[in-house]
Amino acid sequence: MARRAAGLTRAEGDTAPTGEEALKARLKSFEDAVNNLAQGLCMFNAAGEIVLCNKAYLRMYALSPDVVKPGCTLRRLIEHRREVGLFNGDVDQYVALILDTVAKGEVRSRIGSTVDGRTINIVDQPIAGGGWLVTHEDISERRRAEEKIVYMAQHDALTDLFNRAQFVERIEYELARSRGSSKTFAVLIIDLDHFKDVNDSLGHPVGDLLLRAAGERLRNATRPSDTVARIGGDEFAVLQPLDAEGMDDVVALAKRILLDISAPYEIDGRQLNIGASIGVALAPYDGAEADQLMKNADLALYRAKADGRNDYRFFELAMDVEARSRHALEADLRKALAKGEFEVFYQTVYSFETGRICGAEALVRWRHPERGMVRPDQFISLAEELGLIVPIGEWVLRAACMEAAKWPADLKLAVNLSAAQFKRGNLVDAVRGALADSGLAAERLELEITESVLVTQNDHNLSLLRSLKQLGVAIVLDDFGTGFSSLSYLRMFPFDTIKIDRSFISDMSTRQDCAAIVAAVANLSRALGIRTTAEGVETREQFELLRAAGCTLAQGFMLSKPRPAAELDFSSPGAALKAS
Ligand code: C2E
Ligand code: CA
Ligand code: CA
Repeated sequence: MARRAAGLTRAEGDTAPTGEEALKARLKSFEDAVNNLAQGLCMFNAAGEIVLCNKAYLRMYALSPDVVKPGCTLRRLIEHRREVGLFNGDVDQYVALILDTVAKGEVRSRIGSTVDGRTINIVDQPIAGGGWLVTHEDISERRRAEEKIVYMAQHDALTDLFNRAQFVERIEYELARSRGSSKTFAVLIIDLDHFKDVNDSLGHPVGDLLLRAAGERLRNATRPSDTVARIGGDEFAVLQPLDAEGMDDVVALAKRILLDISAPYEIDGRQLNIGASIGVALAPYDGAEADQLMKNADLALYRAKADGRNDYRFFELAMDVEARSRHALEADLRKALAKGEFEVFYQTVYSFETGRICGAEALVRWRHPERGMVRPDQFISLAEELGLIVPIGEWVLRAACMEAAKWPADLKLAVNLSAAQFKRGNLVDAVRGALADSGLAAERLELEITESVLVTQNDHNLSLLRSLKQLGVAIVLDDFGTGFSSLSYLRMFPFDTIKIDRSFISDMSTRQDCAAIVAAVANLSRALGIRTTAEGVETREQFELLRAAGCTLAQGFMLSKPRPAAELDFSSPGAALKAS
C-alpha cells in the first residue's frame, strides 16, 4: 500500500493538479487501494465510531453498507452483526472487551470464528491520538490446509488409517496414562501372509486395492476405542485398551481379525484370498516403552509365521532369547564362508528307466564350531535376507562342479539356486565360470529353482533362465505343487525336469488325491517331454506307487541320505532296493 501511495504522488506531480482536486483524487486512490485489500479493514475514532471500512470487511460479515459506514458506532456494528446472524455472543460483553483492549494501547490479535464456520484472524491496533484500526483476515483456507498437513502426517494415504509414527505416539500416550493405574492394553501386529506374491504376480494396483480392503475389514473388526494403523507395506497394527477380562478380549479380537481378513476378496473382477498372522504384546508387562512393545509384538508375529501362519501368538520371554540366538547365528553366518565352514553333501538320484543311479543333488551343510552340523533350512533363508546367499551359492556351485568332474561321465549333478541369486550377482557368469574352471560338461549340470524365481521379477528372471539354458545346462523346477499356481509355470518356461514336492509323496499311500495328483503330473509331464522326479521317497510302497505312476526319477532316504562326497556310492541303487 505504501508503494502504491508513493506512486500516486509522483503521478500527480506529472499532471500537476492543485488544491481540493488533488486531495480528492488522493482520497479516491486511497479508497480504491483499501477496497482492493483482501483483508477486512475498519478504522474507528476515539469516540468509537467508524471512520472508514472497506468492502472486504462488509463482505466478510455480510454487513449492510447502509448501516456500517462512517459514523456507525462499534455497538451498533456488533448489533448489526448479530442481526445478520453472524454473531451470537453477548454484544455488551464483546464491545467492552474491544474497548478494554484498545484502552490498553496494545496491539492485540485474536482468532474469531463466524457462525458459519469460518476462522478469522482479527488484529486491533491503536492509532496515535485515539481511535484504532482493526484488520480481519479470513484464515479458514490456511487453517484447513494446516489441518490437512497434520492429518497427512498422522495417516497412511492408501488406507486412511493411522501411520506408524502416530501409532507409536498413541502407545506412548496410553503408557503414560496407564502409569500408576491398573490400566492395560494390547498391541497387535498383523501381517498379511504371502501378500508379496499377490503384488508381484497381479501388480501393485491390485495389491493396493487388497491392502485398502484389508484395512477396511480391520477397522470394522475393531471397536471405536481401538487404534488401527498401517505400519508398513503389508503390516497393520491395533492398540486395544483392555479392562478386567483383558485376555479374553484380545483373543476374541485376534480370532475375529483372522476370520475377517481371510474371507475372499472381490477385486478387479477376480476373487483373491489372503491370510494373516498376528503377534501380540501386552502393556505394561511386555514392555514399558513403545519400542519394546512393538519389538516384542514383532517377535510374537515372527513366531506365528514360523508356526505355519494364519494364527496369532502372544509374546513370551523365550522368544526374546531366541531372537538373541538368531542374532548370534547371523553374526556367525557372516564369517562362515571366510572360515571355510561350509561343506557340500550329495544325495543320489535313481532312474526308474535304467534302474541305476544317474546323478546326485548337491545340498549345502554348515559345520558350525559350537552348534555342530546346521541344516540349510536353518540358515538359507537367513542368508537370503542378509544377501549372503550369492557368495554362498557361488561357492556351492564351484565346489560341487569340481567334485562332479571326478565322477563317471554319465552322472549328472544338480545344484539348488535361490531366487535371490537371480536378483543380485551375475548368475550366468558364475555358472559359466564354475563349468570352465572345473571342466564339467554343461550337459551334466542341472540347476534347481523354485516357483519363487518365476513369481518375482518375471521378465528379468525368465531371460536369465534362457541364458542359462543356452549354456547347455538343464533347468529343474523344484518343490512342484507347493506354490501359488504351479501348472501355469510349466507354460512359462521349457523345464527339463520337475520335482514333485515331498509332501505329495509322503501322503501318497494314505491319501488317494495325492496319488492321483502325482500320476496326473507324471502323465502331463511326459506329454510335454518333461522328466519328473519324486523327492522324499522313504518307503518301498511309495517307491512302487511312483514307478506305477510313471515318474522318471526318484530321490529319498530309502535310496540314500545326503552324504559327504567321500562316502558316495554310485554303483548300487541302495541297500533297500537290493533287499527286496
Ligand atoms: P530341497 O532342494 O527340496 O532338497 C531336498 C531336501 O529334502 C534336503 O534337505 C534333503 O536332505 C531332504 N530329503 C531328501 N530325501 C528325503 C526323505 O526321504 N525324507 C525327508 N524327510 N527328507 C528328505 P536339506 O539338505 O536339509 O535341504 C533343505 C533345503 O535347503 C533344500 O530343499 C533346498 O531348498 C535348500 N538348499 C540346500 N542346499 C542348498 C544350496 O546349496 N543352495 C540353496 N539356494 N538352497 C539349498
Ligand atoms: Ca532341490
Ligand atoms: Ca524339493
